[in-house]
Order: sequence, then C-alpha cells, then structure tokens
Amino acid sequence: MHARLAVRTAVCLALLLALAVIGYEVTESPGNQIFGKTVVRGPTNQRVVALTYDDGPNPPYTNRILSVLRAERVRATFFVVGRAVVAYPGVVRQEVEEGNAIGNHTWSHGHLVLYDERGVRQTLERTDRAIYAAAGIHTRIMRPPFGARDWLVLREARKLRYVPVMWSVPLPRDWDYPTAHVIAARVLRYVGDGSIIVLHDGNRGIVCEGRRVSPRLCDRNADVEATRLIIRTLKQKGYRFVTIPELLRLQGRATRTAYHASG
Ligand SMILES: [Zn+2]
Repeated sequence: MHARLAVRTAVCLALLLALAVIGYEVTESPGNQIFGKTVVRGPTNQRVVALTYDDGPNPPYTNRILSVLRAERVRATFFVVGRAVVAYPGVVRQEVEEGNAIGNHTWSHGHLVLYDERGVRQTLERTDRAIYAAAGIHTRIMRPPFGARDWLVLREARKLRYVPVMWSVPLPRDWDYPTAHVIAARVLRYVGDGSIIVLHDGNRGIVCEGRRVSPRLCDRNADVEATRLIIRTLKQKGYRFVTIPELLRLQGRATRTAYHASG
C-alpha cells in the first residue's frame, strides 16, 4: 500500500515539475503570443533586418560597436538597462546622436514575471527617466529581460504605451563567450527578410568599471567583431539595416507612439 502511494506521489511530483518547466519555457519563448501581442519580426516581404543590442551601455565595448556601425553606415537599436544608463549617460547620448534607437530593458535586468504590477511599472519608469536625463528622449519600445513576460507584464507595459519587442533569430548564446565567427555563424544561419537579431553589448547592465568583478564578466569583444562580420555578409546579400522604430513604420504600426523625441 505504502509503495503504491509512494509511486503515485512520485508521478504527481514529476508531472508538476514538467508543467513548471514548460510554463517557464513558454514565458521566455520569443515567438509565443499567448500572453499578448509582441513584435517578433518585421515585414517578411522586404530585404530588411534589425540589429539590436541588449544589456548595455557597457564601455568600451558599446563604443567599439558604435564605431563599427558608424564605419559601416548602419543604425541599430540598443535596449539599455537603467542602472548602466546612469553610470554611462554619455554613451547613451552618443547612441542617439549617431541615429541609433533606444529601447527600455528595465532598471536592473530583473525577471519581470516575478514582479507585481507596481514593480513592472517602476522598473520601466525609472529607466525611462534615466534615458531622458542621458539623451533627452523617451522611448516607447521595450524588451523584457530574458524575454520573460506574462499577461500582467505585457498589460503594464502597454499601459505605459510601450511596444514589447522580442526577436526572430534564435539567440546566439554570446554570453557563453564563443568566438566572433561562431556568433556570426549562429546568427547568419537564421537571418531572413524582416529578421530581428539580438546581440549583447553588456551583461545584464552590470557596471564592471571600478568594481571588484572579473573583467571577463563585461567582455563583449566577440560581439564587436561579430557585428562587423554580420553586417558585411548581410550587405553582400542585399540587406538593408533598420532600427526597430523604422521596422515598425515599415509595418505601418505604432508610428507615433513607438519612439519619439520629446520636445
Ligand atoms: Zn538582457
């Protein structure tokens, strides 16, 4: 009798665990629209692609990426983390001055599914204030850290008039420090018309400068070189690079609220 009870308990626990794992995966899966609409890709009938960078600003790597973009005459979108924005406001200002777009990637890169309504609002609003103080603009695009969202997260983001932006090219796992060639190959394998690519110019908005942390934690050199490789290859294939707000305009959506400079 006891043995049967033990088996049943074990089966129930295994099922619960499986459900929890599936639930967790669904909240982070970039393409699912279960919790509400998000932007996953741009128009698939135009030879355009959007390069996006998460987790910065993070000098000197963000600056190096900006140099590559400048040299290649390409504009990208930076989803910045509030705590890094206040540490390096000049880098954000430069991103904007050079024609790149900014997105809100929360204040401290928390997992938003664990936040309540007020928490979601506060982390987005505090980051918005930091971006405005740094660069004089308000952005209306956001990307939840880890891609993690549920109904509550998307509802609060929408109340603040944010367009949630995910991605279509599977993450190249650049946080595991692969070489630039590996990052580029992982991205290029999946790029198509209207693709949204994610690279990282920082590491969850961690401010490494002047801290007693491993310098490797913030090392994004491979992403700098991967940027060059990806741009050159895609240009040869006839792709045009657009920012996320430009991508949204091509789709005819959210033109006025997606992104605007505040006067
Ligand atoms: Zn992130």
